[in-house]
Amino acid sequence: MDYFPLFHDMRDRHCLLVGGGAVAARKLRLLLKTPVNVVLFSPELHRETQELLEAHPERIDLQARHFDVLKDSADLDQKVFVIAATDDAAFNQSLAVLCQKKNIAINVVDQPELCTIITSAIVDRSPLVVAISTAGKAPVLGRRIRQQLEERLPANLGRFADILGDFRQKISRTIHDEKQRLRFWQWLLDGPAHEAALKNQLDDSRQIIERALEQTDNNLPAEGEVYLVGAGPGDPELLTLKALRLMQQADVVLYDRLVSPAIMELLRRDADRIYVGKRRSDHAVPQDDINQQLVTLAKEGKRVLRLKGGDPFIFGRGGEELETLAESGVSFQVVPGITAASGCASYAGIPLTHRDYAQSVRFITGHLQNNQENIRWAELAAADQTLVFYMSLVGLPTICKALVDAGRDKYTAAALVEKGTCPEQRVLISDLSRLSDEAKQHQFRAPTLLIIGGVVALHKQLHWYEGEGRIISTES
Ligand code: SAH
Repeated sequence: MDYFPLFHDMRDRHCLLVGGGAVAARKLRLLLKTPVNVVLFSPELHRETQELLEAHPERIDLQARHFDVLKDSADLDQKVFVIAATDDAAFNQSLAVLCQKKNIAINVVDQPELCTIITSAIVDRSPLVVAISTAGKAPVLGRRIRQQLEERLPANLGRFADILGDFRQKISRTIHDEKQRLRFWQWLLDGPAHEAALKNQLDDSRQIIERALEQTDNNLPAEGEVYLVGAGPGDPELLTLKALRLMQQADVVLYDRLVSPAIMELLRRDADRIYVGKRRSDHAVPQDDINQQLVTLAKEGKRVLRLKGGDPFIFGRGGEELETLAESGVSFQVVPGITAASGCASYAGIPLTHRDYAQSVRFITGHLQNNQENIRWAELAAADQTLVFYMSLVGLPTICKALVDAGRDKYTAAALVEKGTCPEQRVLISDLSRLSDEAKQHQFRAPTLLIIGGVVALHKQLHWYEGEGRIISTES
């Protein structure tokens, strides 16, 4: 290890930055994340530097000229370090020599041979900061690792670190036995205090820690929780970062048919998996039982993931499941997912709204109870709106006919998307008069999403995703 990583206390310190280009501006932006004061030498100002100067006039001492190694050397005194971000190699060289003479740390951008300190790629969850260095050998690799960490470390982690900092001494005073203290810290990191902080419930997080510290027997409470998480329409890359994090920490997972196998692959390996899927007219597990099961598992202290296709609050019965949890006093959180309408429309090249074709979009259930009485067809006949029917394969002939009967033009474009966003995606493009027959002819199977309106025609120019099932178009 040629370079020893250190974190420098920047409070009440000064540093010197030389350079007026984009690189210097980036360094300045980074420096200003700390409380350091910057003396900046630059005859001209980059736009971003100008903005930073306006935002922090009291922290930047601008010397609007070139740094002169002979005349300005006194400016190096009392500086914690110097950064040279100029493309003048000769100048950089003489500045580096001067710094070495004065024993002041210097970083010269892109000239590692002149540096006595090097900068790192940073993941900032202050006060938690991760610095990554490849000793100047492969900055691109450093940035890649930073990106991976950025995805994995929750945004609120810093707040939790702050809370832990506040309790650190108290924990040491209260729990004397070292092994027991370590167990307590592990419980803090794995348990409900951490999760509450990530949910931004900072007071709750503190209270959980206070209560646990009060327990003399140190029997740490295992508080279960339910995560109601939207898994999106199928493509695993459409998961949110939060969904992925909760998927990787849940002890037990209740999932249904719409969650794609590729997404199930991303669950914690040793998590228990419980299938609670439903098929049309074949309710594998009644909804009440699912609600109850969530409560029971959470009360056993488990972190329970209820994984749903699409978004849990769009035709997902997420609300009902949460009501039971709320009534039973089980804590929960909800993570939205990309709903089938957004996913299928994007992957089929159909914008759901468009200035020329559709001023609004409706998400409608095509699961027709008592035949069709639950839908107000007259409202859906206006031409300037996009209609998206979920659960509509069985009711397809009825839906198309009812819309035409209510006054919608029978040549209105209509698309049926099967297994949208998955590799097997198929898209059938047709119109209201023919779609239902053609869907039968091409043997479309659930899950399918029905999109109706002028926007469908745009797929010709805008489609970009080629599912294995391709696009079947019978447009006239
Ligand atoms: N909560 C889900 C919807 C559940 S209702 C969401 O927000 O997407 C189930 C219906 O969603 C299916 O009948 C189908 O109409 C639609 N659907 C879900 N995933 C789909 C996919 N990958 N392709 C096409 N339709 C899908």
